[in-house]
Amino acid sequence: MQHLITPNDFTNEEIVNLFEDATIFNDLQASSVLNGKLVITLFFENSTRTRSSFEIAAKRLGAKVVNLDVSTSSSSKGETLIDTVANLNAMKPDAIIIRHRDCGLPASLVEHVDCPIINAGDGMNAHPTQSLLDLFTIINHFDGKQNGKKVAITGDIKTSRVASSNLQLLPRFGLELILVAPEHFMPLGDFRKVQFLRDVVDEVDVVMSLRTQLERHSQTYYKSLEDFGKDYCVTSDIIGSRDILIMHPGPVNRNIDISDELLADKRCKVLEQVTNGVAVRMAILKKLILQ
Ligand code: ASP
Repeated sequence: MQHLITPNDFTNEEIVNLFEDATIFNDLQASSVLNGKLVITLFFENSTRTRSSFEIAAKRLGAKVVNLDVSTSSSSKGETLIDTVANLNAMKPDAIIIRHRDCGLPASLVEHVDCPIINAGDGMNAHPTQSLLDLFTIINHFDGKQNGKKVAITGDIKTSRVASSNLQLLPRFGLELILVAPEHFMPLGDFRKVQFLRDVVDEVDVVMSLRTQLERHSQTYYKSLEDFGKDYCVTSDIIGSRDILIMHPGPVNRNIDISDELLADKRCKVLEQVTNGVAVRMAILKKLILQ
């Protein structure tokens, strides 16, 4: 049984095949590939894009979706999460999609189920489907010639699960990473690191901006987000007329992560990422449910 907990659960060859399916699904037409299948979503953290994207993806493939309302589920009556999931598994779903604030929780469920577990984000640990849709967006943007392109990841890299999954995945497809952040938002690891985007803007092909993960901080680093934005907002002034792909996984803090002007610029593909996210998740559901 194959699960998707981190991007490393798929080989490069599997990802290439996955993207072939995603390209076909990108017309976002309904299909009957998963007719008769049932998917359960369990979101213990807030979500706009990921949850609706999975639900739309499953429905476009003909599957039925049950969204467990965790605020009214028995986990609020003291049931352990493993028991909740074992009970859901006993109802024979074809996949369980879970988001939880605890790092490693989706991985710990794998041995208690008979269907694939898909990690929709576990704390600051991993967000494999976001990194796959980011990679898909980058590969499409460069028409498959992404090898050697430089991606600057900027913002709160240290506590971002999107960053942690992209740090694993993007180099596997020939992308060079440059981390742009203040010391306290810089992760460990042997990456090229700089403090400001202006230091590398002349050499990068992609800028991926990340939100400040306030909900995961145990201390206050800035008086206000505006304060952070003064140094780290990606603006038209910094990017100029350079041919740079601008990305963000959402939710965007406008004029703190990316300026209004740049968000409206055609080099900014934030909404294309969202569209691609449905196609990539359709391909993931098909792969894991029909394995
Ligand atoms: N939506 C992404 C996540 O769930 C990014 C973020 O929240 O900043 O991790």
